[in-house]
Amino acid sequence: MAVEKAMLLAMMAAAKDVRERAYAPYSGFKVGAAVVGGTGKKVYLGCNVENASYGLTLCAERVAICRAISEGEKTISAVVVVGGEKAPARPCGACLQVMAEFAPKNEPLVIVTCTASDTYTQATLADYLPIPFTLRS
Ligand SMILES: [Zn+2]
Repeated sequence: MAVEKAMLLAMMAAAKDVRERAYAPYSGFKVGAAVVGGTGKKVYLGCNVENASYGLTLCAERVAICRAISEGEKTISAVVVVGGEKAPARPCGACLQVMAEFAPKNEPLVIVTCTASDTYTQATLADYLPIPFTLRS
């Protein structure tokens, strides 16, 4: 699914807003994410939620994806991540693997990364993670 400009701008604004709710007392690195479900009609938001044990920290992307799936979506079609000041924060490996789980089978999953000042890049999941882990061979 190509992300239409108006949808992209709305997702960037929403991700920027939810970024302000990030719980990031340890890193101070706030991230917001907006995910479009496979129906293409609804946007789900998430922010990073850190934990004193560090390993239990949840990234904004995974929070948003879990919200989409728990609301009934079966796939996701686009992800917008807002974080970073000079360069957009890119999804980590764990988030890319979770995106692969719910990516559409017949079209690329669009990933847009954006700074807090609206500098953004657009790529696909395959650009970041060309060969995801799978139990199917
Ligand atoms: Zn992540």
